[in-house]
Amino acid sequence: MAVIGSGPAGFYTSYKVLSKIENGTVDMYEHLPVPYGLVRFGVAPDHPEVKNCEDKFQEVAESPNFNFIGNINIGPDPGSLPLKAIAPHYDAILFAYGASQDRKLGINGEDTVNGIYSARAFVGWYNGLPEYSDLAPDLTLGEEAVIIGQGNVALDVARILLSDVNSLKETDITEHAIDILSRSRVKSVRVVGRRGPMQAAFTIKEVRELLKLPDVAFRPIPPTQLPPDMSKLPRAPKRIMQVLAKGSEASLEDVPRSWSLDFQLSPTSFNPDQSNNLASLSFDKTSLGLEPFDPKARVTSTDEHAELPAEMAFRSIGYKSEAISGLLELGVPFDNRLGIIPNDQEGRVLSLEWENGVKQHVPGMYAAGWVKRGPTGVIASTMSDAFLTADRIAEDWHSQAPFNGGEEVKIGWEAVKVEAEKRGCRRVSWEDWKKIDAAEVARGKNSGKKREKFTSIKGMLSVLE
Ligand SMILES: Cc1cc2nc3c(=O)[nH]c(=O)nc-3n(C[C@H](O)[C@H](O)[C@H](O)COP(=O)(O)OP(=O)(O)OC[C@H]3O[C@@H](n4cnc5c(N)ncnc54)[C@H](O)[C@@H]3O)c2cc1C
Repeated sequence: MAVIGSGPAGFYTSYKVLSKIENGTVDMYEHLPVPYGLVRFGVAPDHPEVKNCEDKFQEVAESPNFNFIGNINIGPDPGSLPLKAIAPHYDAILFAYGASQDRKLGINGEDTVNGIYSARAFVGWYNGLPEYSDLAPDLTLGEEAVIIGQGNVALDVARILLSDVNSLKETDITEHAIDILSRSRVKSVRVVGRRGPMQAAFTIKEVRELLKLPDVAFRPIPPTQLPPDMSKLPRAPKRIMQVLAKGSEASLEDVPRSWSLDFQLSPTSFNPDQSNNLASLSFDKTSLGLEPFDPKARVTSTDEHAELPAEMAFRSIGYKSEAISGLLELGVPFDNRLGIIPNDQEGRVLSLEWENGVKQHVPGMYAAGWVKRGPTGVIASTMSDAFLTADRIAEDWHSQAPFNGGEEVKIGWEAVKVEAEKRGCRRVSWEDWKKIDAAEVARGKNSGKKREKFTSIKGMLSVLE
């Protein structure tokens, strides 16, 4: 099986497939020289415990039937391997390549005004994603930042902006991020959403963490926006509402920094000053209808407007998967609206054509993780979802269902590597990754950190020269 992507979906599916199919072999293709996807480049540096799943992934990678093929992008560009070059050499292909784009608002000023960043870029930058190593966000433009979106990624961004930089120094946050964060002038962060507290996407753990940040106060939520009788709510929302109503211990008068959750605001434009730097954001106020505390309440715009001053804004309205080139040649469709590879929700990729009233499984093609179900869900849910896909792969294999390219014996990377060499690809093996890993840990030791990541592909590969 070829696995495209080395995030949690790729590793957890591989683990289960290898345990269920005797003599099965997995070749995992990853476009960066380093593994683990968003566990390395998304999960916040002050959440090291979340990265414990890497121990399991390492165990999978040490299996004799597993090959890590890092630094090889599956795609049409020079130095990449097109899908059609690898496909004939595998019985099965697992698409587990996550969501590497971000959703946009499509409002005035989004692409032209200075001081607006996507959360994906900002998170990638502080976590050392090579694509954003040069982002250098200017956090000295002013004291007020607005984050658009109220999911956990938005709260990660707020926490990193408001944390005492000394508390991050021992984590694996990049040195360039420490440098810029230590010069930050940001004092107030507003986390803005279109809906109300009962419909918001954040979870209690992340809210609590922000409420407990030393020397950071929470601006109270207007009581009218919270359910009047919390005792009747189910347990989970009740706890969140109570935590929000209680607020932070620190009060606005006593501490230098603050944050707020601003509900029922839908952004309409980013407004520049005369130097084209962000000065404020305009919003339409929204209505939640007659049942504002119903978790399913839908928002509609009203005629009322609001404006918030801000010199920096972060767009955090979600990640997005896109099709990789060559899918259709394999009969694999892509749903651009949902940003997923259409599947039977259990991991089998479904063709576009209907047969006897149902869409058919494209033989040998499977999906897992964010490209299977959309860019939501934590590592635990990605794991369950990956296990489900693996169960279906094993079931199909054991029931002798048709796989990719008929029954001839496929030899995977042994055949593909000839093409890879012709195209000038430089494969990074698991042994190579272990050298990069050791070099990063050693670099970190010098500055008392867990690890100092290489932030460029060149830097990563320099270890192997
Ligand atoms: C900012 C952020 C913070 C998060 N924090 C937490 C948290 O604290 N706790 C938690 O449980 N969950 C967290 N999550 C969610 C978690 O990261 C996801 O559930 C999980 O990573 C999804 O796994 P995946 O394998 O589908 O995708 P990914 O982790 O994105 O992995 C996809 C991999 O595919 C590779 N790839 C992409 N295109 C190609 C290609 N063409 N060829 C080869 N390789 C390719 C990518 O480089 C990447 O390595 C967070 C997510 C984000 C965005």
